[in-house]
Amino acid sequence: MSKYIFITGGVLSSVGKGISVASIGRILKSRSISVSVQKLDPYLNVDPGTMSPYQHGEVFVTKDGAETDLDLGHYERFIGIELTQASNVTSGQVYSSVLAQERRGDFLGGTIQVVPHVTNEIKRRIREVAEMSRAELMLVEVGGTVGDIEGQPFLESIRQMRKDEGRDNVLYIHVTFLPYVAATDELKTKPTQHSVNELRRIGIQPDVILARSDKQISEETQDKISLFCDVDREAVISLVTSETIYEVPLLLEDAGLGEIIVGRLGLRTDKSDLEEWREMVARLQAPKEPVVIGLIGKYVGHRDAYYSVREALRHAALAHNREVRIEWLDSEELDGMTNDKLGHVQGIIVPGGFGCRGIEGMIEAARFAREREVPYLGLCLGMQVMVIEFGRHVFGTENVNSTEFDAGSAYPVIDLAPDQRGIEQKGGTMRLGTYPCHLVAGTTAARIYGSEIACERHRHRYEFNNRFRQPLEEAGLVASGLSPDGRLVELTELRNHPWMVACQFHPEFKSRPDSPHPLFLGFIGAATKTLVEGAQTSLPLNGE
Ligand code: GLN
Repeated sequence: MSKYIFITGGVLSSVGKGISVASIGRILKSRSISVSVQKLDPYLNVDPGTMSPYQHGEVFVTKDGAETDLDLGHYERFIGIELTQASNVTSGQVYSSVLAQERRGDFLGGTIQVVPHVTNEIKRRIREVAEMSRAELMLVEVGGTVGDIEGQPFLESIRQMRKDEGRDNVLYIHVTFLPYVAATDELKTKPTQHSVNELRRIGIQPDVILARSDKQISEETQDKISLFCDVDREAVISLVTSETIYEVPLLLEDAGLGEIIVGRLGLRTDKSDLEEWREMVARLQAPKEPVVIGLIGKYVGHRDAYYSVREALRHAALAHNREVRIEWLDSEELDGMTNDKLGHVQGIIVPGGFGCRGIEGMIEAARFAREREVPYLGLCLGMQVMVIEFGRHVFGTENVNSTEFDAGSAYPVIDLAPDQRGIEQKGGTMRLGTYPCHLVAGTTAARIYGSEIACERHRHRYEFNNRFRQPLEEAGLVASGLSPDGRLVELTELRNHPWMVACQFHPEFKSRPDSPHPLFLGFIGAATKTLVEGAQTSLPLNGE
């Protein structure tokens, strides 16, 4: 039977609750406790995949193809696990399934209410992850902050869980923020007191308070929180903004959180072993030579939109003992400016995206990379852009495009390809989740993966159009990764270029700070001219 830790937030959003949860997962894993994680999102969207990256940051894709909240990315990276669709529950999903049950007549004419019908459905979904994962400990993060209207059914459900599961099997952690008032040079605890009061009104007394702050938190302030919020002094943990997010597990461990959790839940565990993580963080914090990468996208004003890409670049740079410096370049502002904006970068990356806005700037960047022999890594849309650019060069016309951007293009080198994918998938639907890819012997891709097969996560509608494969290959494009039936091009590279590689999938989702992804390692290696081939990674890339 699993034990549960429920994590709520107070005062403000964006104080790093997701990172805290991921870090708690890591400190427990370091004691050999098996952990699974779930995020409960109070918003009404059924599918987080439909939300704008401007509003909600990146859409994180799980191995089973769910489009989820970016917090799942933190959990996977910190804890080194792979989650599934069941780990992200939204109010929209909960209400849809309760309403569907009502339509089917499952409630036999009863009155359908938030308590118990909606709360039962929420608890069922929490327990489902616990059972499926067989984890000793489930971490459940409730999105938003206490007091949000949409969050109420979730809070009521986790309140009931303490009674259902037994008081020794459930722990509540509340993450709050202490604002700084310059006039009196003080960190204020009142908002924390109010949010704990709000939690208590619902019936939840937090066992632990994680107080986030941008400044050092004094003993007196912690005493005050302990007194007013009725939380043991040792369970008031201060969490001061750190230089790198990967330091947070160490800060929490050093503040005693691991011991508190293990003690309160009566878990029998090994001694904590965070030595490798500590060493990784020390290397991350040590001064290093920079490697300058130009990232060309259309959501660069909202960097959370490329969260996993940024982290994957950091992980790979660290393995090369470099610090990645990303130049965030808006593809719409690149038109005719490639020389000025890309002249000094050591590598160019074009990440994923949808819609035609900004495409021409990305194509120009790909041309710059090809002509100037600058290392280039294309991710999903970035592969399509590379193929379009190369097609324009080979066919000698601008009339080469993806049908996503120009339905009437004379050379639709990227197109919807239901016939290539086989009958079970219809055109117009997204290809989502993990697919195997055969790496073609002798290519850069095969060398950097050091294997014959890669399993990677997808999220796209369009594909390389096989009608143009032969002329493009004759001109120097190499299809270096293919679906097992050979009909879908999953990786492309250029024969006469030092390092121009692109993939139809999203490798960034599988990179970990302690296990960087081979494609990113190869890219940063090329950018620093220290190419590592057959890169070592402990990540299981072959089969899952
Ligand atoms: N818009 C492209 C497609 O749908 C690329 C998607 C992506 O980059 N994730 O195929």
